[in-house]
Amino acid sequence: MSLLTELSEQLPGRAYGPGASEFDTGRTVFAGVGEPDVVVRPHTVDEVATAVARAAAAGLSIAVRSGGHGLLPVDDGLVIDLAEFDTIEVDDAGLVTLGPAAHWGDVAAALASRGLGISSGDTRQVGVGGLLLGGGVGWLVRTHGLTIDALREVELVTAAGEVLTVNAESHPELFWALRGGGGNFGVVTRFTVQASPVDGLVGGSIHFDRSDVPTVLRAWREVMRAGGDGLNSSLMLMPPMGPEMPGGPQVGIALRGTESELRDLLAPLLALPSVAKVDLAPVAYGDLLEDAPPGRPPFQFVGGNGFAPEVSDELLEAVAAAYARDVPTMVLLRALGGAFSRVDADATAIAHRDAEALVIVNGVLPADAEPELVTAVKAGSDAVIALTTGSYGGFEANRSDEITASMYPPATLERLRRVKAAVDPGNSFRRNHNIRPAG
Ligand SMILES: Cc1cc2nc3c(=O)[nH]c(=O)nc-3n(C[C@H](O)[C@H](O)[C@H](O)COP(=O)(O)OP(=O)(O)OC[C@H]3O[C@@H](n4cnc5c(N)ncnc54)[C@H](O)[C@@H]3O)c2cc1C
Repeated sequence: MSLLTELSEQLPGRAYGPGASEFDTGRTVFAGVGEPDVVVRPHTVDEVATAVARAAAAGLSIAVRSGGHGLLPVDDGLVIDLAEFDTIEVDDAGLVTLGPAAHWGDVAAALASRGLGISSGDTRQVGVGGLLLGGGVGWLVRTHGLTIDALREVELVTAAGEVLTVNAESHPELFWALRGGGGNFGVVTRFTVQASPVDGLVGGSIHFDRSDVPTVLRAWREVMRAGGDGLNSSLMLMPPMGPEMPGGPQVGIALRGTESELRDLLAPLLALPSVAKVDLAPVAYGDLLEDAPPGRPPFQFVGGNGFAPEVSDELLEAVAAAYARDVPTMVLLRALGGAFSRVDADATAIAHRDAEALVIVNGVLPADAEPELVTAVKAGSDAVIALTTGSYGGFEANRSDEITASMYPPATLERLRRVKAAVDPGNSFRRNHNIRPAG
């Protein structure tokens, strides 16, 4: 009996194959469209458990789709599309119950009237599930930490089809692993997250021309070092994209404070001769978020990311050199420190807590670029990444054992592998930055 026939009998009206619109939705993700054997779209936790136990017992891979912005297209096995699990509920203590398929833009909108928010990613359409299991580097990361730092509890369906309530008391090791270990340990059907105050924000952007990038980089670093936890910022170096978009450094900023406080903090940047445009004003947290492009742009991004323990002169010089090369290059520096760094390295699976910034550098090449060019551009990006430590899986589009090993220090990865062996010894959940079971 085929998997589709069997699951259709066990879960009437919930299992879909080619030709069904639910199949098409479930197999379509930001990165493309796959050809899985079956898409199951459960409505209840018990239905999730039934589908998982069946696929795991047959040794099939189980891909979990929440917001669809992290999964790569799946060409065999089962996709569990959690689209029906999109609850957003908040209680008087600011504890928020989230379904994994809720989108962060909707979460921000639902919490806004209470002056609350959850520092999540910077994109509205990204899903709760993938981001909350992977880490969550958001706009207010220096003020409120990673999204996983606000996680209090999850409901988890394991590969055996067991439904667990996982928190720091009930299953401390599993709860540790779920905060940064991604979708390796089962299907999360509910998250409980502590929201934080996000009212009274002021922010916006400063654009610079390309005349003196090194000075902008150093000034940004000094501004961020002098600013407290309340000051959050990313610096992006954009390549030119036509006459309307000449490229250059862009600094995005958010502060919980007043506009005059913000202008005082930013004075060294605002005084630079290369300032081209300043746009600073009171802003709602939800308005800091951006809309995602409809799918992955048709380019290859050649580079990677890493945590910078120190934004050193050497690192900034390497960044400026990578940006100045002939190939269009994008660089993003996300300021960390603050609340992000006050969490102990072994408190969650994201261990690089001493980082001053997360650095992302990519040459932007046509999909069919000559291999020699790709290799040369990769070397240029690697010169920057070599000055960082580890990497953040959420910003890594590819999957390999090498990438997983770069995401976690060796002791963290070994600990994750032991947890994996306890809850998913057959590695059913392997459509991710895969953590192989220990042993
Ligand atoms: C345009 C864009 C912008 C982004 N911006 C940011 C950002 O600002 N900050 C940041 O930190 N990250 C960012 N990311 C990365 C993002 O956090 C990850 O790609 C994340 O996995 C997306 O979550 P999702 O639910 O949409 O993905 P999905 O594709 O649904 O899931 C991705 C993976 O997560 C796992 N997973 C998802 N849901 C569950 C679940 N309920 N149970 C078990 N496993 C599950 C699965 O392994 C799955 O393969 C961005 C990604 C994109 C495409």
